[in-house]
Amino acid sequence: MIVPWAVILCAVLAGVGMTFGDGAAQVITSGPSGCKAVALTFDMCPVREGGGYDAPLIDLLIERRIPATFFLSGRWIAAHETEVKKLLAVPFFELGTHGQVHAHLPGLDAARQRAEIVGPVALLEKRFGYRGSLFRPPYGEYDDTTVETARALGLRFILWNVVSGDPDPRLSQARMLDELRARVQDGGIIVFHANGKGRHTRAVIDELSRELLQQRGLQPMTVTELLDRCNAPSSHDAGARPH
Ligand SMILES: [Zn+2]
Repeated sequence: MIVPWAVILCAVLAGVGMTFGDGAAQVITSGPSGCKAVALTFDMCPVREGGGYDAPLIDLLIERRIPATFFLSGRWIAAHETEVKKLLAVPFFELGTHGQVHAHLPGLDAARQRAEIVGPVALLEKRFGYRGSLFRPPYGEYDDTTVETARALGLRFILWNVVSGDPDPRLSQARMLDELRARVQDGGIIVFHANGKGRHTRAVIDELSRELLQQRGLQPMTVTELLDRCNAPSSHDAGARPH
């Protein structure tokens, strides 16, 4: 009996250490400072009208080999099996989740929050064999229960520090780009939509990748790469290309 209990205790302690040690309890809005990269993120909130998939935008990302992270809601996954497979087939895309029905989480009890958060995670795993480790709450809304639930599920809690504003019908393409020029910085996480609700999203990504990111030497990365593998430039790199 001694050995199994020891094993269980060790597993519990290791689990606790892992959970608190890997930053899963944090609400993450950006990558490390000094990281010369950004994460372009695209929410797949459920849609009532339209196809729910911005094919020209995603084709552009693929054509330019731009790494991107998508946050899929459970309802969206259920209605877009072919599109989920297409996203999964791109090696420089990463998938996270975005709630089952895109509910407003704050104020819901722990069981309901857990069901909303875990729904699309389970769906991705069961139907597609993909274990998503990133979670973005619908509307960016959360309370302590949301953070604790995501932590208990081992999910990284990902918000953003730059809003593209792409679903806003009042924002012109030029205005969106002006805002992005002013706000995008090292280690930024930028939120867009790829469910067809983004206006000018493709054109803005086109400009952003050709102009802004290149000028500032910011490399697009997936969220996990940004968080785990992006550090300040080493002395080896510094000064390699004087300007
Ligand atoms: Zn959403």
